[in-house]
Amino acid sequence: MEKTNHTAAEGRYEAASDRYSKMEYRRCGRSGIRLPAVSLGLWHNFGSIDRYENYSAIALEAFDAGITHFDLANNYGPVPGSAETNFGRIMRESLHSHRDEMIVSTKAGYLMWDGPYGEWGSRKYLMASLDQSLRRMGLEYVDIFYSHRPDPETPLEETMGALSDAVRQGKALYAGISNYNDEQTREALEILRRNGTPCLIHQEKYSMFVREAEKGLLDTLEREGVGLIAFSPLAQGMLTDRYLRGIPEDSRAAKPSGFLQTSELTPKRLAQIAALHTIAVERGQTLAEMALAWLLKDPCVTSVLIGASSVYQLRDNLKALHSADFTTEELARIEAVLHS
Ligand code: NDP
Repeated sequence: MEKTNHTAAEGRYEAASDRYSKMEYRRCGRSGIRLPAVSLGLWHNFGSIDRYENYSAIALEAFDAGITHFDLANNYGPVPGSAETNFGRIMRESLHSHRDEMIVSTKAGYLMWDGPYGEWGSRKYLMASLDQSLRRMGLEYVDIFYSHRPDPETPLEETMGALSDAVRQGKALYAGISNYNDEQTREALEILRRNGTPCLIHQEKYSMFVREAEKGLLDTLEREGVGLIAFSPLAQGMLTDRYLRGIPEDSRAAKPSGFLQTSELTPKRLAQIAALHTIAVERGQTLAEMALAWLLKDPCVTSVLIGASSVYQLRDNLKALHSADFTTEELARIEAVLHS
């Protein structure tokens, strides 16, 4: 494990005093909230199969670097729920005195428990799930509560109504949506606004390799004054040096619990990764840094929501904040690779 400047394992954490000078904070749409340009997600690496010493070091290193935003969901693990439980332990042991400096988000939408009320978008599920999340994390409220995915069967008024009521009850400060397409987003924003609890943020998969958001959603969010946080900005590790020389044993693609399938690492994909890596090296940075900087060049992107399996990766990713601007020629070369 990398050396860090704190002693999380012994429970004597002291936050770095210069943490806020290291980070850029971007306004989330037209709200009063500013989010760090880099946020930390706990989907992988924080579950019951992972080591506390490692993931608590990542979380505390993140906070020391000015990352104020930690993103969770009811089902993150494995096992589902364990990322929230483990984050709760980090809060209890190290970060509790900083709660007012933090934005903690959670979500409900995917399968969490058996029976008809354990997933999707009913009021019953969302309300029960949020209560469970708060208990697991030992928090009185979350800052953002998301509908994790649209439900084709539940009326949108019901799902958005549950988010609005969670806000009114003080269990969440803001409402968010995730994985809603452009049309669904426009409807959801309208309902949330009518309810008096405007949508703060949309969480969407967005990276050099996944660009659906560019087909209308980004424009809608900008027009409506809603923030965009880009999840899996490194395409789960493909936009890094991880897979340049095969599939490492400890990588997400190799792990049975990982969501990245080796079938995604096609010869075409690997050739694109190698070509992008070359451009990054010429820019004097790693591919991960370049991939994040590429997203952050757009002011519509409030934050890139990264994952990290080590402190080393987190530090590498944070360097994207100091990345040089892209020249027109570099952007054209990147586009050519992505269309190859
Ligand atoms: P990334 O695309 O950032 O992938 C993270 C993985 O990439 C790491 O676990 C690591 O993989 C590898 N990696 C990261 N940095 C480096 C580096 N510098 N060098 C080499 N490898 C690196 O994001 P995630 O897919 O983890 O998603 C981030 C967050 O987004 C989640 O935690 C969650 O909060 C959110 N999310 C939301 C979803 C939604 O539906 N709303 C869905 C998915 C994610 P390895 O383990 O191989 O080391």
